[in-house]
Amino acid sequence: MANREVEKAQHAHPEGETLFEKIINKEIPAEFVYEDEQCVVFHDVNPQAPTHLLVVPRKPIPQLSKADDGDQDLLGHLLITARNVALGKGFDRTGFRLVINDGRHGAQSVYHLHVHILAGRQMKWPPG
Ligand code: 5GP
Repeated sequence: MANREVEKAQHAHPEGETLFEKIINKEIPAEFVYEDEQCVVFHDVNPQAPTHLLVVPRKPIPQLSKADDGDQDLLGHLLITARNVALGKGFDRTGFRLVINDGRHGAQSVYHLHVHILAGRQMKWPPG
């Protein structure tokens, strides 16, 4: 399953409106756990851990490497939101992992910046 995700990432590229914009606009259903004026958090459709959430800015920044210096506050907000969600779910007791994939070698498959929150099992290092 994870390898299929990497395969998908090999052929993915920045496009117009991404499916995450459709999720943000509620045109495609997703299981939301949080939203505010800057970002939304919903469950990944193909979870790689017992809990796998995505923190997605409403602003369609394609990938971290394309963010502007002026996005500093928004980028900070994504991390603070990830922390708040993790604390709210008690993941600070056992630990959790945040991941941002960027570009082909980073195995990014959706070109709308997002922070993965993975929790509920022992993570490995190095990641594949
Ligand atoms: P990336 O590989 O770009 O870092 O992560 C994209 C993530 O989006 C993947 O983990 C994938 O499972 C998830 N994803 C792809 N399509 C959908 C969808 O339609 N709904 C939800 N909730 N997640 C999706």
